[in-house]
Amino acid sequence: MLNIKDLSVAFSSKSDFDLKRANLLFKILSNPVINKIGATLTQKALDFNLPIEPLILSTIYQQFVGGTSPQKCISSINKLSTYNIQTVLDYSVEAKASNKGFDQTLNEISELIDFSKNHPSLTFTVVKMTGIAHFKILQKLSKNEILNTNEKEDWSNSIKRLDILCQKALDNNLNFFIDAEETWIQKAIDEIAQKMMLKYNTKQARVFTTFQMYRNDRLDYLNQSIQHAKDNNYFFAVKLVRGAYLEQENERARQFSYKTPMNPTKDKTDFCYDKAVEVCLESLKHTSFCLASHNEESTLKLVNYMKQNNLENNHPHISFAQLYGMSDHISYNLAKSKFRTLKYIPYGPVNDVIPYLMRRAEENVSMTGQMSRELGYLQEELQRRKNIN
Ligand SMILES: Cc1cc2nc3c(=O)[nH]c(=O)nc-3n(C[C@H](O)[C@H](O)[C@H](O)COP(=O)(O)OP(=O)(O)OC[C@H]3O[C@@H](n4cnc5c(N)ncnc54)[C@H](O)[C@@H]3O)c2cc1C
Repeated sequence: MLNIKDLSVAFSSKSDFDLKRANLLFKILSNPVINKIGATLTQKALDFNLPIEPLILSTIYQQFVGGTSPQKCISSINKLSTYNIQTVLDYSVEAKASNKGFDQTLNEISELIDFSKNHPSLTFTVVKMTGIAHFKILQKLSKNEILNTNEKEDWSNSIKRLDILCQKALDNNLNFFIDAEETWIQKAIDEIAQKMMLKYNTKQARVFTTFQMYRNDRLDYLNQSIQHAKDNNYFFAVKLVRGAYLEQENERARQFSYKTPMNPTKDKTDFCYDKAVEVCLESLKHTSFCLASHNEESTLKLVNYMKQNNLENNHPHISFAQLYGMSDHISYNLAKSKFRTLKYIPYGPVNDVIPYLMRRAEENVSMTGQMSRELGYLQEELQRRKNIN
């Protein structure tokens, strides 16, 4: 029987020192004011080339990043694997916006696929389109603007990069996530993701698109996408997230005076998220989905649905995912009950993953409730250990 709040399971892999460090960090992150000031100071320190690397390395980097390379993540991967948790290594370096930078990302992920095929607990790989394509081109395509000759060539090269990676993942028996990004480039990403699913998901779900349910248009698009897959005989596969760019999205809508594409409230996003899960479940024969969330209610709703409908816990079309360093109580307890559980482990050199960490910090502002909850669990576990010693 699953008890998501069994903290002895949740933190079984953590030493007292790990817990105390995390406790301090989440105390800082759960305070939106300190969080914002910290992010601003970090940016300023970077702008002035101040030596803040050691500080970052021993704090947020250790908590949220697996290591500088896939090889350096091995101990984390193995540890998770002993608890039945699979790893998704996420190359979290923001690409230099040049064809050379995109080719570097291609090589890095291609090597990651080679690395993954030797590790049974690495069953997924992941790409961000802005790591292999020009943001401006994605934006132009999303606005249905015509590309000039050079842009056409650049875009064709980006499609080739994605295609090489999908093919290589498939050849090595891996699944492939395409992350979702800002709404003003997402239409182009959605279209290319759909093309890849059409090409690679004919026999089983391999390529997964990502839907952000904080968007007010996604439920309709989800229904259309499932229908498209049924009409064209391929498996629809989706990673369901709430969405990581809430602040930027609302800010941009204000700045350019258009109606925000975001849901008006958190409750509405929660409703849309859970509804999306229901929609996928209704078409489970043709659909695979990953519940990528730290939300306890959404997780338990799906777990209960599976139980009520006699779906086995390790159903091949359903998986759960959380980010490294967060919501271990969900990951470890799900995995203990044999649900397919994935942990996204970001990796990359310290300075290069700072933009990722800054996004984490910024994003934390829109989920401070979650940070306080993490903090509460850490303190409860520290107290529990103190009591039994
Ligand atoms: C494995 C994994 C992969 C991910 N991949 C992606 C990705 O590809 N693209 C991406 O964008 N994000 C991605 N995310 C991040 C994700 O979108 C969320 O930002 C994060 O997981 C927090 O949402 P939650 O469901 O975990 O938790 P909750 O704490 O329940 O939800 C917080 C989220 O609710 C939404 N929200 C908060 N306040 C409001 C409001 N006032 N109005 C409307 N909505 C609101 C925001 O999306 C916020 O992030 C990923 C997350 C995970 C765990």
